[in-house]
Amino acid sequence: VNEAGLNFIEQEIKEDLSMGKNGGRLNTRFPPEPNGYLHIGHAKAFIMDFGVAEKFGGTCNLRFDDTNPQKEDMEYVNSIKRDINWLGYDWEDRLYYASDYFPQLFDLAIRMIKEGKAYVDEQTSEQIAQQKGTPTTPGVDSPYRNRPVEENLDLFMRMNAGEFDEGSMVLRAKIDMSNSNMHFRDPIMYRIIKTPHWRTGSKWKVYPMYDFAHGQSDYFEGVTHSICTLEFVPHRPLYEYFVKELADESYCPRQIEFNRLNLTYTVMSKRKLLQLVKENLVNGWDDPRMPTLCGLRRRGYTPSSIKDFINRIGYTKYEALNHIELLEHAVREDLNKTATRISVVVNPVKLILTNYPENKEEIIEIDNNPENLEEGKHPMPFTRELWIEREDFMENPPKKFFRLSPEKEVRLKGAYIIKCTGLKKDDNGEIEEIYAEYDPATRSGMPGSDRKVKGTLHWVSAAHAVDAEVRDYDRLFSVENPSAEEGDFRDLLNPDSLKVRNNVKIEPWAAQNSKVGDHFQFTRLGYYTVDPDSSEGHLVFNKTIGLKDTWAK
Ligand code: ATP
Ligand code: MG
Ligand code: MG
Repeated sequence: VNEAGLNFIEQEIKEDLSMGKNGGRLNTRFPPEPNGYLHIGHAKAFIMDFGVAEKFGGTCNLRFDDTNPQKEDMEYVNSIKRDINWLGYDWEDRLYYASDYFPQLFDLAIRMIKEGKAYVDEQTSEQIAQQKGTPTTPGVDSPYRNRPVEENLDLFMRMNAGEFDEGSMVLRAKIDMSNSNMHFRDPIMYRIIKTPHWRTGSKWKVYPMYDFAHGQSDYFEGVTHSICTLEFVPHRPLYEYFVKELADESYCPRQIEFNRLNLTYTVMSKRKLLQLVKENLVNGWDDPRMPTLCGLRRRGYTPSSIKDFINRIGYTKYEALNHIELLEHAVREDLNKTATRISVVVNPVKLILTNYPENKEEIIEIDNNPENLEEGKHPMPFTRELWIEREDFMENPPKKFFRLSPEKEVRLKGAYIIKCTGLKKDDNGEIEEIYAEYDPATRSGMPGSDRKVKGTLHWVSAAHAVDAEVRDYDRLFSVENPSAEEGDFRDLLNPDSLKVRNNVKIEPWAAQNSKVGDHFQFTRLGYYTVDPDSSEGHLVFNKTIGLKDTWAK
């Protein structure tokens, strides 16, 4: 990042614009292949594509890179649009499909054949791979390399007419079998695929390879800056080679590369994510443990926390592994400002205030957000019988246990100081009820309330509590970098990544005033969001993240 706060891509774009390249236009594109759901790595890419266009007064296209009919589907197209919108970006009327360019790409291939720049190869893919050579030794020419133009034309037309089997022949660019850049050793331009395409049906039997489609698609759309990830650096000369068949000095798109987003404790490969979904190792693409945008949304991540995280890790020319703690830090910081505080007891035990009248009910007013008092308060009933957390009581506590134990005092948050007077156990020795006396002079805000006690516990009135389900999540994988390990990545899944708690007690106001996607801070516990599995009378919460932040600032 330079003095003006611009990263290296923004600096290059600014320079291109100031030199008046491409008539001073800026047009980027985000080119997802509709063969899976978007993950947070894709967000890094489209935040750059849409963000830089916004920043410099340009435009950004959404282009579905649908050149492989075998893996693509409309379901993915819709999810991709939704996720881009969720992060606040809009392609407006600039929605494109690479499949719309099949005719132009085919025409270009015909022209290149006629000019002696492409040939039909009838070898197997294994033979072609063997002849490629190595970066330090030249490759071997295909025996079909010098077949006459007429023959190439005829075969290519018949390939597309469906006369030949998949894998029986390909169209290759005739470039240089000894080039030090392996991508120049007669790369494949077209292969035969008989699977119908979800948009163009059975019209085409030949489909362009990525390298032959991408730069040209950029050109057809008027894209000026084609921003992608570092693995495409070695493809750039080929991008430029094919684009030159179309472009001139007045307009020519250029490719710029940045480092991928790699996150600890997860995987980013679409193939692997698809496998997790297909094999039911997670509960769908939007499982809250997934690094997909729909998974993060369901987990309770906010768009601004994701953008904040992407902004913090930045864009560089070097691969790195990004720590998930930084993403967690970003969402915690955001939710601290915005989430409504409510009282929820996830592992309840009954507390009975023996000196509190049986039928009395007081209303305690709770701040919705102490970080922002303008958000007001909500009412919470206080009664003789309450739920508190089982972990907040110990019969024989160690020295520094400041929660409740026999003969000790604690404050019930927003209410009274109480003193434990006894307990009752069931036949298994498990604590069933805890007894205490409250001190009527100590209600929060009253003159007697300033007596110091060490612990403050959250609670819910037993008569008013509503039962809910809470899903606690841990890391999806048990190793930091699953992609760097040998063996099957599925063996590295964390077996304890999901814990479901039923019988969770939530305060009545929250039960009546929550809808799917709402964010809450459960006092003393963490941030939670309402899951779409919730139904009338059965609320389900996902834990987004705990309160404690161990990330060094
Ligand atoms: P595949 O190669 O299996 O198709 P992909 O994740 O590259 O998977 P694309 O749909 O081709 O999927 O990706 C769309 C865009 O998102 C590309 O420009 C790609 O470079 C970018 N992208 C993909 N993964 C990441 C990542 N982890 N970090 C940053 N950008 C990414
Ligand atoms: Mg791809
Ligand atoms: Mg890719």
